[in-house]
Amino acid sequence: MIASLRRLTALCALGAALAACGTAGNPGPARPAHANPAPSASPSVSRPPTLAPGPGGLTPVFEHGPRDLGKTVALTFDADMTADEGPRAASGEHFDNPDLIATLRLLKVPATVFMTGRWAEQYPAQARSLGRDPQFEVANHSYSHYAFTGDCYGLPTVGPAGMRKEVERAYASLRTAGVPHPLPYFRFPGGCYDRQALRALGATGVTAVQWDVVSGDAFATDADAVVQQVLDGVKPGSVVVMHCTRSAAPTTARVVRAVVPELRRQGYRFVKVSELIGGTNGHR
Ligand SMILES: [Zn+2]
Repeated sequence: MIASLRRLTALCALGAALAACGTAGNPGPARPAHANPAPSASPSVSRPPTLAPGPGGLTPVFEHGPRDLGKTVALTFDADMTADEGPRAASGEHFDNPDLIATLRLLKVPATVFMTGRWAEQYPAQARSLGRDPQFEVANHSYSHYAFTGDCYGLPTVGPAGMRKEVERAYASLRTAGVPHPLPYFRFPGGCYDRQALRALGATGVTAVQWDVVSGDAFATDADAVVQQVLDGVKPGSVVVMHCTRSAAPTTARVVRAVVPELRRQGYRFVKVSELIGGTNGHR
């Protein structure tokens, strides 16, 4: 009883974090963009577009693409798994969502997956498959899915000294799993960040990627309500946050099967986050 109550509490905390916090601290709009600030270490692989750092080297924050460059929309999927959820996975809980990935492939929807390092360790074959498929981009969602601010829906907190390590450890896990070129984009767990977090990650060179449309798929049981929320929210250049975590977001594949044809009927084209950032930079 106590154990199940505890588990429920933990689930709710994660659920709140998954549900995405549109009110999370935002120290200001993204800085005007420019082309890649750092030279590519590997000339054979073109470096994805990033935003220019903010004042004092603050990590830049991207929320949506240009509103006036046509009807594009980026579906993003957070592959959440916290560092302490290994025992739950071992006892049969599914933090992956193969049906969702198969659906995106079937419908030929390009998408960006923000993957925790812990998820990549649990599901290396899927991480590798996503990382090697040009239809997808795999980006960083921290190693542990712990919060980068003091108050983020009950998630355990990473101190400033550990923030950069969280990002670097996640990249190491992604590469070990077989994702050859994870993107220099980072999504804060729960979407929670503040100035201190942006400062702590400045040296990593990532662009933080938020969203302007909350799908509401976390712990949803009514797929139609999620579909409606997405359709009501999408505008040209939108970034939609959804989840690639079966146990915490069981309706997402169904939502995608409904949302994709409808948005295409409305004239939308699905793109990856890099294309929206590239469009913001005016380098397309
Ligand atoms: Zn997450």
